[in-house]
Amino acid sequence: MSTSDPKIASYIQHARPRFEGMLAELVELPSVSMDPAHAVDVRRTAALAVEFLKELGAEAQLVETGGHPLVSGGWTTGAHHPTVTIYNHLDVQPAQEPEWRQAPFAFRKEDELYHGRGTTDDKGPALTALLAAKYAVEAGMPVNLRFLWELEEEIGSPNFAAALVNREAVTKPDSVLVSDTVWVARNRPAASTGLRGLVGARLTLRTGEKDAHSGLTGGAARNPLAELCALAHACVDAHTGKVKIPGFYDDVVPPTKAELQSFRASGFQVARFKQVYGFHSLRATAAADVVRRIWASPTFEVHGLVGGYTGPGVKTVVPGSGELKVTMRLVPNQRPAKIFALLRRHIATLNPDVRVEPEGMLEPFRGVVSGPYADAVRVGFRAGFGKEPAFVREGGSIGAVQSMVQAWHVPILFMGLSLPEHGYHAPNENFDWGQASGGIRAFVAYFRELAAMRHFHP
Ligand SMILES: [Zn+2]
Repeated sequence: MSTSDPKIASYIQHARPRFEGMLAELVELPSVSMDPAHAVDVRRTAALAVEFLKELGAEAQLVETGGHPLVSGGWTTGAHHPTVTIYNHLDVQPAQEPEWRQAPFAFRKEDELYHGRGTTDDKGPALTALLAAKYAVEAGMPVNLRFLWELEEEIGSPNFAAALVNREAVTKPDSVLVSDTVWVARNRPAASTGLRGLVGARLTLRTGEKDAHSGLTGGAARNPLAELCALAHACVDAHTGKVKIPGFYDDVVPPTKAELQSFRASGFQVARFKQVYGFHSLRATAAADVVRRIWASPTFEVHGLVGGYTGPGVKTVVPGSGELKVTMRLVPNQRPAKIFALLRRHIATLNPDVRVEPEGMLEPFRGVVSGPYADAVRVGFRAGFGKEPAFVREGGSIGAVQSMVQAWHVPILFMGLSLPEHGYHAPNENFDWGQASGGIRAFVAYFRELAAMRHFHP
């Protein structure tokens, strides 16, 4: 199907002031979900979003969740049309970094650039999708376009899964489109097709009532911190990162050849990666190896070792107790509960005195990389940006995605619009008109593909 559309250029041109006006209003409400002092702003953001939807002719409602509300709305064009839910979030990260060159919640337009917290994550992409949907409805595309705008994404979506059960307010779609991810490089659209999962644990060991003097007791006294270090060593090879827990890799599905090729085509650069995160050296040097490690391999990380003396100099204590804080990033098809059980068994065999307690679990996610939905993503990005997208993965987790998988069991596709230089979760966050206008074209083409898939049942 042809994606050329003479009317869309003039639509986009006319939509620009509306886009900028709505973005300014949203950015100037500091919807920091993490900070209870901003609870009122979060609620006002939801109310404003409901207004925006209604102004454009969609129906919309604010849905109570027990925490911050969420916004549900959209256009139903026909009962037999395919329904897509477009997921975005309207809460933002705090913005207290001293590096901000402007007030973070004052929207500022500078030519093609839009400055302010939330412009790229995720208010700009949300409005881009909204204006694309408005166009699709006016063009009479046979597709139902629903919006689900969360306001607790930045705090791990604690009430999202429960809210999806409210079928009256949140209807079950045939597919989901998520627009909340970052391209790997400016000149190459990227579509995520996988997220890593997570399982955390605290390993605690108490060998005495209190700290003791090493001159009086050392040699006979057990040292819980040293024992916990030995356990860390028994779980992971610190040089290679290889996890040593028996059975840990059993369920790992390695990326396909096509996926690895797509990873390489994403524009990932090791030098830039090192610069962004301030690394002096890495466990791997080749780009292909680095991306495979961060996107498609599981990990075991030590985050903290607590106990003993941590003040200036050295104090000769033998600690009475210690705690090791660890997490494992998981890839498809590892299951957090099973991996936690493997860890617990491994530790019990090596050191039965250590208590292993779970600290949060998230399933990994694997999306489709072929078939009509993946093809629709390709068509969309080509229409919007003139280029084939690279199918990549995310090293992190998005809790909301897993909730939608479990509630609906429908395909979930990703079309993010953020660029690495947009300052995602960082000071001086920005978004730009190039990504917004290309994004409108991309989403419109994607919706047109979905409409044409009316009779496809996955
Ligand atoms: Zn986000």
